[in-house]
Amino acid sequence: MSARLLDGVAIANQIRADVAPAVVEFTKKAGRPPGLGIVLVGDNPASEVYVRNKLKSAGETGMFAELTRLPATASLADLLAVVDTLNRSEKHDGILVQSPLPDAMGHDAERRVFDVVRADKDVDGFHPTNVGYLVQNRATLVACTPSGVIEVLERSNIPIAGARAVVIGRSDIVGKPMALLLLHRHATVTVAHSKTKDLPALCAEADILVAAIGRPGFVTKPFVRPGATVIDVGINRLDTKAAVEKMFPGDAARLATFEKRGALIVGDVHPNVAEVAGALTPVPGGVGPLTIALLLRNTLRAAQTRTGLAG
Ligand code: NDP
Repeated sequence: MSARLLDGVAIANQIRADVAPAVVEFTKKAGRPPGLGIVLVGDNPASEVYVRNKLKSAGETGMFAELTRLPATASLADLLAVVDTLNRSEKHDGILVQSPLPDAMGHDAERRVFDVVRADKDVDGFHPTNVGYLVQNRATLVACTPSGVIEVLERSNIPIAGARAVVIGRSDIVGKPMALLLLHRHATVTVAHSKTKDLPALCAEADILVAAIGRPGFVTKPFVRPGATVIDVGINRLDTKAAVEKMFPGDAARLATFEKRGALIVGDVHPNVAEVAGALTPVPGGVGPLTIALLLRNTLRAAQTRTGLAG
């Protein structure tokens, strides 16, 4: 069997195409476009790329998108002051503070920052109020990556209701909201983590297996029931030749990509799982592009909800 590859780029484009006319409509009614304020602290290269892509996509969709930069030496108080300004701004409907924050800000800095972003501007869906709404299945703003996974499943006609779903990972930003979204769509959900026993056997019972672990190629064929849908949320960077050769022995094409780019981006699922799975999201090109599309949709929703102007 060779799995159907689920094309995240195409699905992200569909979502943007849904969002764009509503942005035009909102702009006409409100006299201004939906606005997104992004805050970037420090100079983490991966964050630079993510933020650039977010700003570009928001601009292309007709939104107002603005970046506030703080140096890596900024204090938590400096960052909270920026968030406070954005909270009070009329032209910013959504606020996104790019993680990770510099270690020097303290281990609980992200939590403290996400807690003070106004809940109705919380386009990441991380604020406790929005998480509470998600638990009760009445959220407007839900974390982008797990929402993107639901879009992939629904737009690929993969049944969720009645399915047995296993989510590997229990983080606040992916695993937990993912499990809730699947549960609300009537899947029977198991959440696995680093202390789970007999993980491959548990995963092999799943109709839908979601991997959000942060370990390259962790999910291998024994984890997958033949015909199951496998969603790979992981984004991992292999930056040594030895790591590429270990994960992909004798794979000249991948080695050549590594030589050319100096790194290889891989998921949490080994791509040869495609020999067993019924459907699989590739990395790159699977869940990744959905995260930005859902950020745009959340920004539009925040703008509509805050102003009372539906699209
Ligand atoms: P976290 O590190 O916050 O969470 C990882 C989870 O995986 C934890 O719950 C951990 O368990 C679990 N885990 C770790 N090792 C094992 C193991 N050996 N067996 C079973 N479970 C294990 O990561 P995130 O949730 O933030 O991200 C997960 C992945 O998704 C990363 O690769 C990240 O880069 C990617 N990501 C991709 C996004 C996208 O846009 N596509 C957006 C966000 C993340 P425990 O709780 O017990 O420690």
